[in-house]
Amino acid sequence: MSKGYISIFIGVFGAGKDTQAKLLEDKGLVRTFSVGQILRDASKDMPWLKEYLLAGTLVPTDKLAEILINFFNHLALQKVKHLIITGFPRVFSQIDVLKRLIKETGFEFYKAFNFVLEDAQIADRILHRYVCPKCGALYNLRTNPPKDDTRCDFDGAALVKRQDDNLKTLCRRYTVFVKQTIPVIEYFRKLGCLVDIDANRTIKEIQKDLEEYFTKEVIQSCDAFVVQ
Ligand code: AMP
Repeated sequence: MSKGYISIFIGVFGAGKDTQAKLLEDKGLVRTFSVGQILRDASKDMPWLKEYLLAGTLVPTDKLAEILINFFNHLALQKVKHLIITGFPRVFSQIDVLKRLIKETGFEFYKAFNFVLEDAQIADRILHRYVCPKCGALYNLRTNPPKDDTRCDFDGAALVKRQDDNLKTLCRRYTVFVKQTIPVIEYFRKLGCLVDIDANRTIKEIQKDLEEYFTKEVIQSCDAFVVQ
């Protein structure tokens, strides 16, 4: 019998993948991990890694595999019923890393959720995005502002901007997304494992949609993505 399920949240940056994954986690439905955040944390001890993050280019798959496998090997996943990984895989070669993670955790693959955001919205989302340096809570000063000016609702820390949330890096990240990640999305679509999520809606509307996929009754693994 399967220990649990793995799902992935993919799609363009700024579409709300991490925000929605966190909301599902807060409801106790899943455990969630953002590959971007794992890399940002790891980059504190690995200066070479920071160069990729600041440039907005993808970390090479062999290096990423090493970091991710090491990260997940150190986690206690015994009680986890559903694991969401956000921002991964972003390039074809990372599909094998996902397969390795599935094999090593003994989980089954549930679905790939593709967050679809209109191009015109991307810059707006990214350039108004702020993050709490203490707890990682995400805000958008226009659409999802904190209650108190620029302080985190949960711990009062002064919010900061991510170093790569600027116009120059954004253009590079978009090119990477179109060239490398869209083919990955289409791969999952062909397998029949993909769910498109309209990310142009409000946080609440998207949340309601997603919760239906994560209630116990409807969960069924995607047979087309069986890892031998
Ligand atoms: P994100 O937090 O998802 O916007 O990712 C920030 C940066 O982390 C990206 O611009 C990449 O440099 C790196 N990154 C995140 N996810 C991946 C991935 N799956 N593969 C390679 N690099 C990644």
